Amino acid sequence: MTQGALDTSIEFLKGVGPKKAELLNKELGIFTFRDLLMHFPFRYVDKTQFHHIRDLREDSGTVQLKGILRRLNIVGDGRKKRLSGRLRDETGYIDLVWFTGIHWLEKQLSIGSEYVVYGRVSAFRNQLNIAHPEMEQLNPENIKKASSFAPVYPSTDKLNTKGLEAKARRKIMQALFEKITAADLPDNLPAYLIQKFRFPSRHKALRQIHFPRSQEELTQARNRLKFEELFFLQLRLLQIRKRRKDAIKGWNFEKIGDFFNTFFKKKLPFELTTAQKRVLKEIRRDLGSAIQMNRLLQGDVGSGKTIVGLMSMLMALDNNFQACLMAPTEILAQQHFQSISEYCEGLDINVGFLSGSVKGKKRKAVLEGVENGSIHILIGTHALIEPSVVFKNLGLAITDEQHRFGVAQRAKLWAKNTPYPPHVLVMTATPIPRTLAMTLYGDLDVSVIDELPPGRKAIQTMHKTENHRMRVIGFMREEIAKGRQVYIVYPLIEESEKLDLQNLQDGYESISREFPPPNYQISIVHGRMKAGDKDFEMQRFVNHETQIMIATTVIEVGVNVPNASVMVIENTERFGLSQLHQLRGRVGRGADQSYCILMSSFKLSKEGKERIQTMVRTNNGFEIAEADLKLRGPGNMEGTQQSGILNFRIADLSKDGKILKLAREIAARILENDQKLEKAEHQAIRWYLEKHGKKLKAWSRIS
Ligand code: ADP
Ligand code: MG
Repeated sequence: MTQGALDTSIEFLKGVGPKKAELLNKELGIFTFRDLLMHFPFRYVDKTQFHHIRDLREDSGTVQLKGILRRLNIVGDGRKKRLSGRLRDETGYIDLVWFTGIHWLEKQLSIGSEYVVYGRVSAFRNQLNIAHPEMEQLNPENIKKASSFAPVYPSTDKLNTKGLEAKARRKIMQALFEKITAADLPDNLPAYLIQKFRFPSRHKALRQIHFPRSQEELTQARNRLKFEELFFLQLRLLQIRKRRKDAIKGWNFEKIGDFFNTFFKKKLPFELTTAQKRVLKEIRRDLGSAIQMNRLLQGDVGSGKTIVGLMSMLMALDNNFQACLMAPTEILAQQHFQSISEYCEGLDINVGFLSGSVKGKKRKAVLEGVENGSIHILIGTHALIEPSVVFKNLGLAITDEQHRFGVAQRAKLWAKNTPYPPHVLVMTATPIPRTLAMTLYGDLDVSVIDELPPGRKAIQTMHKTENHRMRVIGFMREEIAKGRQVYIVYPLIEESEKLDLQNLQDGYESISREFPPPNYQISIVHGRMKAGDKDFEMQRFVNHETQIMIATTVIEVGVNVPNASVMVIENTERFGLSQLHQLRGRVGRGADQSYCILMSSFKLSKEGKERIQTMVRTNNGFEIAEADLKLRGPGNMEGTQQSGILNFRIADLSKDGKILKLAREIAARILENDQKLEKAEHQAIRWYLEKHGKKLKAWSRIS
């Protein structure tokens, strides 16, 4: 084949043709030889082993049989119409059934012939059968050649019933490999890496991923292709980061001045943790570099991000710039406003507040103060990004995230100063496993506070079931008698909203019976309430007018009630791990010992049990995030859903952390020594990046 032959349309491949090509286009987005080649098997089956029908059970899974087709007829009407067959071997018989493409299949199959049948055993009305089995006329030659690693490709019903089932796909792949040679697949990794890691060549690796002859060949191919995929992604991310740093100039905060120093010496009420100090140094370096800062600050709930944010703002003020802090809810914004106003007392700093609820004259005064510079720090909700908010000189914009702002909203903060944009710091309380962070935020700078302030008592977490209900209530009474407050949280999801609200209501009533007025007052908050009512109820709890807060997950987002020491979570099995962790973070904020009680039904799925055990075992958000990644896979974690970046061809971030780390290190080292990839040994990389790397955009730009 000639150069560029991989771009040939699959239509011209033996065994494909226009009709099947169109199906592959539509169903799987496969257009060219290259697309086909890069569509890897998702598993392999052993075609050398046969089962006996007599030995089959409902849980036998996918099996391969050899037998004679004894019966074949179309039965039923309308939607129940199906093709039904019966296969017999020397040990017994089993029914086969097809629901789609039945006329085509009926013509293909012939009664009395011997077949190799491949499919998954299931039970229907106490009878074993196999639905949509793969059928191949028995051919002794084929059996001799059969592989113990026959590839199985992602497929669809349409493909399976229109002549593109697993067997046909294998044939097409074989035809493809007859057409392409090593010359069509020049290597894209430098020779020294291939040698160092003993990788197979690219051509060999691709061949082996489709048609491995042994487990060893398969492992080799996988390792190389995973490395390759992660390596080029990291290379590209690092290039994007470098280019952005070169291109986007920023304000240079030259000095640390009186605001910062006075605060640090006279007002800071505690010693900073080592992690806080480290992060402040990282931020300081960014702010003094004349390049716009784009930093993500990750820190578990309660790790002390606010003070780091505040001290960064003081650096801006010291250089005659303003700063702002945006929070996702009114309550959170107000809490920030209160605590930051207190910290700033006596420092001659004017702190302003803006949200939807600030109206009329008050609003006008705030807007004027921001524009004429008399307000130094502005705190508020997304009201901050409205066009009417014009800063005199905004130097630093901080958002306190917890997943509430979209990228587009944050981008508006950029426009709030010229000629340079403000520096940007995004604080998030959702720990992300390192592998995910390296990828999702691979082109950003990330700081991590991985340490809690000293003296904090670890939250004690317990798992309880319905049998313990009375004891749990007794425990709540004891804690309330000590002057503490209690959260009780119920799940609420859209699909079962009515039932969930009913549960919440029932829970409220039974708790009201256990904790009657006038000794006890109870708040209730859920998403269906009006914003005003919600705030009112929340505020009563914050002010300790109520002792118990019954709520759905609306409280997940950062309310700070240090006096609350007990978190009871109902139907724990219905919450995700990271959500549970966020919820638990609502307690343990004061000096008292705090408790988290996870209520669940007695019967739990394996995954549910593991989630709860993880929660009981550890308070560390990063450890929990890692466990979550392992349990659910990268695509399903909070905050990652929309980002196409996690759609890997072969790499799996929940398992390939080591390869990822290696790929990133090597990519970084290469760029360090040969930034423009000009050296002879890097031409292969450069060529490949130019051809295929462009698709990767700076998706993760946080601001
Ligand atoms: P989060 O990271 O969840 O936003 P906060 O900034 O609200 O955490 O801090 C949680 C609590 O810990 C606050 O009451 C804060 O004053 C306190 N805190 C922060 N840093 C320290 C520290 N180094 N030593 C002691 N307490 C601290
Ligand atoms: Mg916070």
